[in-house]
Amino acid sequence: MESSVQEDRQAIRQAVRELCQDFPSAYWRDIDKHEKYPQEFVNALTASEYLAALIPEEYGGAGLGITEAGIILEEINHSGGNSGACHAQMYTMGTLLRHGSDEQKRRYLPAIAKGELRLQAFAVTEPNAGSETTRIETRAVRKGDRYIINGQKIFISRAKQSDLMLLLARTTPYEELTDKTQGLSVFLVDMRNVKGNMQIDPLDMMVNHHTNTIFLEDVEIPVENRIGEEGKGFRYIIDGWNVERVLVASEAIGDGHWFIERASSYARDRIVFGRPIGANQGIQFPIAQAYAHIEAANLMRFDAAAKFDRKEKCGAEANMAKLLASEAAWEAANVCLNTYGGYGFARDYDVERKFRETRLLTVAPVSNNLVLAFLGQNVLGMPKSY
Ligand SMILES: Cc1cc2nc3c(=O)[nH]c(=O)nc-3n(C[C@H](O)[C@H](O)[C@H](O)COP(=O)(O)OP(=O)(O)OC[C@H]3O[C@@H](n4cnc5c(N)ncnc54)[C@H](O)[C@@H]3O)c2cc1C
Repeated sequence: MESSVQEDRQAIRQAVRELCQDFPSAYWRDIDKHEKYPQEFVNALTASEYLAALIPEEYGGAGLGITEAGIILEEINHSGGNSGACHAQMYTMGTLLRHGSDEQKRRYLPAIAKGELRLQAFAVTEPNAGSETTRIETRAVRKGDRYIINGQKIFISRAKQSDLMLLLARTTPYEELTDKTQGLSVFLVDMRNVKGNMQIDPLDMMVNHHTNTIFLEDVEIPVENRIGEEGKGFRYIIDGWNVERVLVASEAIGDGHWFIERASSYARDRIVFGRPIGANQGIQFPIAQAYAHIEAANLMRFDAAAKFDRKEKCGAEANMAKLLASEAAWEAANVCLNTYGGYGFARDYDVERKFRETRLLTVAPVSNNLVLAFLGQNVLGMPKSY
C-alpha cells in the first residue's frame, strides 16, 4: 500500500483520538447512567466532518472509504466511547446514496453532511418477523400520489434523535409473491412532519441505545419519498449489509483494544499476595489470548474493508470480520472483568458499561447465528435452515 494512504489513515486515527479526548470516560459514564443522548459528542463529530465520511464530496461529505470510516468508529470505541449513538448515520445513508434519485440525493445528502438533518433511524425489525425480514407485515398501500402505512416496528434505535428514518414496508402481500425477496419497499420518512399517527415508545434496554417500538397508523408518505423501485426494497437493504458488518467489526475491534489496555494496565498495577496479579498466568494468559484473537479479527476486518473499497465481492470476509471481531471483543470483555475482580462490577471503572455495550455487537445489527448461516449456506454450500 502507498505510504501516503497509510499516512492519511494514521492522520484520521490521530485526529479522532484527539477529538475523543474531549469526551473522556466520565462523560460516557454520565450519559449511560442518565440514559442521555451524547448530543455534544455527535455535534463535535459532525463539525469535524468525520460523521459524513462516506458521503461523496459532491454532496458535501468527506468521500472516504469503508476502511477510513471503520477507523473512525474504532477510535471512538477505543477511547471508551460508544459509536452506537451515531454509527447508523454512516451506513443508512448508503441506501439513499446507492438507490435514491438524483433529486433525493441533492435534497438530503448535503444537509445530512452538514448536520442540519439527521438520518440515523432505520426501521426494519418487527415483532412477528424477527430475523426473517422477508416476513415483515407493516403495509404500505399506494393511494394516488401517497402511500398509507400501517404496522409496527420494534427495536428501532435513535428514532427520537433523528429527523429522517428509513422504513422497510410491504407493498405486495406475502401470499401473492412467487419470490419472497420481492414485494418490500424502502421509504424515507420525514419525522419532523408526519401525517397520520406515528407513536414512538422507548424500550427499557440493557444498553443506552435509545431503542423504541414504533406504531404506524395511517401514516402518509409521498410517493417521491420512496427510494428506488417499488418491491425491490429487500435487495436495497441487503446491499448495505456488508458495509454494516465491516463497520460493526471495527467498533468491536475498538472495544477489544480498550478492554485489553485496561486489563493489562490493571494487571500490572494491582498487587495481591505481594506481587502484581498480571504475574499470575491465570490472569496474564487470558489477556494475551484475547489480544491475539482481536488482532486476528482486525486483519479480517481490514481485508473485508479493502475488498469493499476496491469494489470486489466481500460478503464472506465482511461476515467473518463481524463474527470474529464481535466474539473477540466479548472474550476481551470477560477477561477484563475477571482481571478487575470485584472492581469490574463497580460502575466508576467503566468496565461493566463497556461489557454491556460490546455484548450487543454479537446480536445486533445481526445475530452471529445468521452470520454463521450465511457462511455455512452461501459460502460453503451447505443446506439452508430457512
Ligand atoms: C439494542 C438493539 C438495537 C437495535 N436497533 C435496531 C434498529 O435500529 N433497527 C432495526 O431494524 N433493528 C434493530 N435491532 C434489532 C436487531 O437487528 C434484531 O434484534 C436482531 O436482528 C435479531 O432479531 P430478533 O431479536 O427478532 O431475534 P429472532 O429472529 O427472534 O432470533 C432469536 C434467536 O434465534 C436465532 N435464530 C433465528 N433463526 C435462526 C436460524 N435459522 N438458524 C440459527 N439461529 C436462528 C437468532 O440468531 C437469535 O439468536 C436492534 C436490537 C437491539 C437489541
